[in-house]
Amino acid sequence: MDILIHNTLSGKKEVFKPLVKGRVSMYQCGLTVYDTGHIGNFRTFIMGDIIRRTFEYRGYFVTQVTNITDVDDKTIRRSREEKTSLLELTRRYEALYFEDMESLNILMPHRVLRATDHVKDMIEMISTLLEKGFAYPSKDGIYFSIGKSAEYGALARLDKISATANDMLRERISNDEYEKENPRDFALWKFESDADRDGEKIVSWDAPFGKGRPGWHIECSAMATRALGDTIDIHTGATDLIFPHHTNEIAQSEAATGKRFVNYWIHGAFMNVNDAKMSKSKGNFIKIADLEAETISPLSFRYWLLTSHYHTQVNFTADAVKAAQHAFIRLAEAYVSWPEGGAADATYADKFSAFISDDFDMPKAIALVWELAKDKKVSDADKRATLLDFDRVFGLGFDALLHVDQDSGILAPADVPIEIQVLAEARDEARKAKDWAKADALRAEIEERGYSVQDSDAGFVIREL
Ligand SMILES: [Zn+2]
Repeated sequence: MDILIHNTLSGKKEVFKPLVKGRVSMYQCGLTVYDTGHIGNFRTFIMGDIIRRTFEYRGYFVTQVTNITDVDDKTIRRSREEKTSLLELTRRYEALYFEDMESLNILMPHRVLRATDHVKDMIEMISTLLEKGFAYPSKDGIYFSIGKSAEYGALARLDKISATANDMLRERISNDEYEKENPRDFALWKFESDADRDGEKIVSWDAPFGKGRPGWHIECSAMATRALGDTIDIHTGATDLIFPHHTNEIAQSEAATGKRFVNYWIHGAFMNVNDAKMSKSKGNFIKIADLEAETISPLSFRYWLLTSHYHTQVNFTADAVKAAQHAFIRLAEAYVSWPEGGAADATYADKFSAFISDDFDMPKAIALVWELAKDKKVSDADKRATLLDFDRVFGLGFDALLHVDQDSGILAPADVPIEIQVLAEARDEARKAKDWAKADALRAEIEERGYSVQDSDAGFVIREL
């Protein structure tokens, strides 16, 4: 059975043909670690995770690589504002990023590359671009000449850029981010400048073409090529990266290597919050920790995302996600009630494979699970085995669900409804922070819902009252 992928480059669904039989190389733009990631960022990372898991389910050997953007305009600006070094700032947010990934059950990509560890690769690529005449020096940095790139803007469907304009006359942009309406020569390298001062010193590296630091776009080109080769199978990211970031990645990489950079581009749709675009100025940025405060577990958020196709724009509201959480809890309850010892049902497994192979159609796969749960012709033990098999792709953590220990009466963590677990975790955190009033209030809320929580050396134990 073929795997079909909607490729942004062609705008069509295409049959996936790997560069090497049985293998998939994937690159995903990672987080810019100047702040905690928001739920929109994690929608994209869950999409990447689902794609990787689908290929693995289908028997491919996958190499997934991502990056950490730990030097760019935003990170340097923030470290200066916080009067801290770039290193201290970026490592702090990187640690939080990894924690959020884990709570969402996102598999850690096989390689996670920090931009600051690969400046040498970026310098090499820029040197090649200078040698080949695709880049030129200016007063404040080295720029990429988009007029020299025959296919520039194809991914973003830009009109053909005039190749006749003289490099020195064409407009240039030193900022990493700019609008599609005005494509311009962009900075590959920014010469050392006081504007790049973090909380301690000027951020800068030695380079044969002058001391300075890389622009954001060259980072991904250099790291993806270094880790996965000149041509890679799949590149993932959110739609807002199509221009300028991915457009510039293609231009740089293809100019440097003379080869096609990426065969399949996959872009995840946006997420609104209460019908509005998430933005710092509106103050409606939602983080994973904010979900827990709403008694939404990270895995319920993941379940909710699986009920929409990655191509569909979604609207986050606490009510919508809580409704999904309710369904997820019902499914978890059904799962733990089903006995072990069954085998995955072949008919359902075939249907499941067909859905996930058709451009990663998770909504249909989730609907299939509910069909299975209600199917009287399949034994409960087989239902359990089938769901566990599907969860290799869903990543909802069913493998971690345990049985009730009848002797001790202690419920294993996942047998407790998810909202109770979230409350108990919040209480444990309040206790550790010595916020006794908050801890007591949370205990009262847990008891109101019919559970008790006790602390032990191993952690806390939740019991049904
Ligand atoms: Zn990138």
